[in-house]
Amino acid sequence: MTYATEYRRSIDDPHAFWADAAQAIDWETPPQQILDASDPAFRKWFVGGRTNLCYNAVDRHLAARGDQRALIAVSTETDTTDEWTYRQLYQAVNTFAATLQCLGVVEGDRVVIYMPNTGEAVIAMLACARIGAIHSVVFGGFAAHNLALRIDDARPSLLICADAGMRSGKVIRYKPLVDAALAEAQFPPPRVLVVHRGLDADMPVTEGRDFDYAEVSKAFVHADVAVVWRESNEPSYLLYTSGTTGKPKGVQRDTGGYAVALALSMRTVYDVGPGQVMFSTSDVGWVVGHSYIVYGPLMVGAATIVYEGLPTSPDPGIWWKLCEQYGVRTMFSSPTAVRVLKKQDPSWLTKYDLSAFKWLFLAGEPLDEPTAAWITGALGRPVIDNYWQTETGWPVLSLQAGMDLHPVKLGSPGLPNLGYQLKLINETSGELCADNEKGVLTIVPPLPPGCLSTVWGDDQRFLSSYFGHFKELLYSSLDWAIRDPDGYYFILGRTDDVINVAGHRLGTREIEESVSTCFEVAEAAVIGAADELKGQVPVVFATLKQSGGSAEDRKVVANAMLKQVMEQLGAVARPARVYVVDALPKTRSGKLLRRSLQALVESRDPGDLSTLDDPNALESVRSALLRGPDVG
Ligand code: AMP
Repeated sequence: MTYATEYRRSIDDPHAFWADAAQAIDWETPPQQILDASDPAFRKWFVGGRTNLCYNAVDRHLAARGDQRALIAVSTETDTTDEWTYRQLYQAVNTFAATLQCLGVVEGDRVVIYMPNTGEAVIAMLACARIGAIHSVVFGGFAAHNLALRIDDARPSLLICADAGMRSGKVIRYKPLVDAALAEAQFPPPRVLVVHRGLDADMPVTEGRDFDYAEVSKAFVHADVAVVWRESNEPSYLLYTSGTTGKPKGVQRDTGGYAVALALSMRTVYDVGPGQVMFSTSDVGWVVGHSYIVYGPLMVGAATIVYEGLPTSPDPGIWWKLCEQYGVRTMFSSPTAVRVLKKQDPSWLTKYDLSAFKWLFLAGEPLDEPTAAWITGALGRPVIDNYWQTETGWPVLSLQAGMDLHPVKLGSPGLPNLGYQLKLINETSGELCADNEKGVLTIVPPLPPGCLSTVWGDDQRFLSSYFGHFKELLYSSLDWAIRDPDGYYFILGRTDDVINVAGHRLGTREIEESVSTCFEVAEAAVIGAADELKGQVPVVFATLKQSGGSAEDRKVVANAMLKQVMEQLGAVARPARVYVVDALPKTRSGKLLRRSLQALVESRDPGDLSTLDDPNALESVRSALLRGPDVG
């Protein structure tokens, strides 16, 4: 079957198409109804079906491939490699699940996981899924305030963390950050489960609240924990993502639809099946980690590699070495990582035997043509850009490595995936765009399986954030795009104030709020400025309560802003440059003109400034840019 015929069938007859796709996973009770779209934004897939993500990722493979590799955890930071066969993974997950139960976790509870990219993080996620607990993994690069926000929204009954992670040979202590987050949170969980990696001998412990995983789990080394079957539409996990406000949104994922979508994409998009090996270089704290380190590969009986470390350490050949060693078939990484590798000696790419290696997928940020051309030439394999979001859970746009692969067009993430009916809408007229006309990329509801069900605890926010933009009920991706006459899409950037730093999505409002908590700061504007390596970097412009200070005064305050962001939000949000200015460009109604600021930083035309409130503001920004940053 070709992509074209399958795609048509998925749009014209979604019931039949998804009924077939649902056969790829195991159900305890088969679905009674494939799709209930009576309320299209809140569509329900596979209604009445009962299944479990852990069962599909682990148990169902025991008979056929219990002794095959399932999980490979490599840390070039701690210089360790751990491997689990499916049978060993089954036991590890059951031991972890029994430990969770012993600490009082029950079906429907939220469990926050704040761990580095390790095998134990994967096992903790699977253990939650096994007992029907809803995990909320928080990326380890986020600091205490970000963690506290996510805790308060999810109100977990347990938090699982490691004592520490490592980056570039430096120990990053997690537990003090957890303690700070729990002190800040209004709804801290009553218990914390700590997985000791032996990295922090001085780890603080709160008696009665903190439990040592090695200690508690001792009683459960042979445990068999019954699978808790979940109705297809019950939540499996929450994953918080940035939007236009300072408060991150809890993307809520269902169970059955997600499983079916992942199984389909593993076959059609990523071309990975039983016994094969997938290596996603992402982190379990991001959506790619959830879908294509943890659930996707395991769901189809493949082996998955979880990697803690840099792409360049101990040397820039490390990823290719792992590809050779484990016979990786499909690798999934980010354009930023490739740009890092591009700066290294190209001979690292030819040093290893990559005969099993078939595909490299890149996603998370725009893939620029020079990077795409370089890596394609260097690998001599198709490099496939794919576009998606935390919200969608799996690619919206891609080429199909597992079907009749259409030609790659540099700069384009390709064609709509099976099940995605897309429309490009002219933002002003609300009309459909013609070929090559820029518009907002939208998905016609009902959203396909795997995409978010709602925003956790806030259906209204779900509707207004995603479905409230046009007269017609459409899911807005909040990305600009064009489509060429061959049907290929090109993504042109966000329509909102979200920026993309090395594939990490950050809300400029979150950084502004953090900067504004500095006592001296009157107001802040944060923009994403173009960066050769990371795509974009955050740049701060701030006015002070007391203006007219010396260069040294400005430097001191700018450093305080930097420190504040690092402490509250984490290194991932670190501003690249901070400028203290006398005024910020705003409209007469007080709206910050971030796009004009961004244009000035990138030496572009700042656009229509007829609504500018204070013309001196532009001059102030221009002279700050000429003068150079106060920090950065
Ligand atoms: P996240 O939810 O963190 O995965 O970020 C999703 C956003 O990243 C999208 O809305 C896009 O703005 C951007 N993005 C993801 N993949 C691509 C891609 N292949 N090309 C261009 N932008 C992308």
